[in-house]
Amino acid sequence: MGRIVYVNGEYLPEDEAKVSIFDRGFLMADGVYEVTSVLDGKLIDFDGHAVRLARSLSELDMGNPISHEDLLAVHRELVRVNDVVDGGVYLQITRGAPGDRDFVFPDPEETPQTVVLFTQSKPGMAESPQAKVGIKVISIEDIRWGRRDIKTVQLLYPSMGKMMAKKAGCDDAWLVEDGAVTEGTSNNAYIVKGGKIITRNLNSDILHGITRAAVLRFAREAQMEVEERPFTIEEAQNADEAFITSASMFVMPVVEIDGEAVGEGVPGSVAPRLREIYLEESRKAAI
Ligand code: PLP
Repeated sequence: MGRIVYVNGEYLPEDEAKVSIFDRGFLMADGVYEVTSVLDGKLIDFDGHAVRLARSLSELDMGNPISHEDLLAVHRELVRVNDVVDGGVYLQITRGAPGDRDFVFPDPEETPQTVVLFTQSKPGMAESPQAKVGIKVISIEDIRWGRRDIKTVQLLYPSMGKMMAKKAGCDDAWLVEDGAVTEGTSNNAYIVKGGKIITRNLNSDILHGITRAAVLRFAREAQMEVEERPFTIEEAQNADEAFITSASMFVMPVVEIDGEAVGEGVPGSVAPRLREIYLEESRKAAI
């Protein structure tokens, strides 16, 4: 049996859910998204994702078609009807389907936005065996647009980056602009040197990760030193540790960059510790 998904106010079997071919998400990537993780049937960092969603919509001059309470209710209902224990809820909101293709934005009074949510089940995802061995990354040029702080569905280049990594026998790519790492294709990037956690500072060059915010808060609470600034691939290769964060990967050690081992080429102590703290605290705060 397929999933039950949510489309514009209705809960439907996934093969009955439809969106117009004129939807601007489909024609122009004119839409935003969020992914909220589910652990033990509960939502992780829901408020953070809802706040970032509201900001993404506002930065693109789109209305917010669903209240915080209704959004939470839809997330919870989808988790319930689909029996999701571990996994995530994907949400996408577009500028709607004006009935033809036009670069000009439609009048929001006449064109309702499209709201789609669906679940993805990933049993045992917090116990991922990959977290024990870490991942390998390559570096590629960051040629994305300049508003990476908005979580748009324009994901072709990150998707190509992932394919370049796979072709090179690696797991992901770190994006490099003006000689410094911005972030991973779908995650934030960090290094650890002399016990200090270094990650790029927040501006429009990177997505303001919800997991990043939580992990840095927990790190500071645990008296770890944090420095928010750009770093190079060479600095990362010479670091003691490297790792990434995202809603679906949590904290994941990076053990190789462009074929060079980071530290001993195995996960160090900081990233696994942060993963443990993040999972423990997030489970406690889950709703
Ligand atoms: N950076 C990019 C480009 C992303 O696509 C993502 C997540 O999809 C992240 C960072 C991590 O953000 P979060 O921790 O909110 O999942």
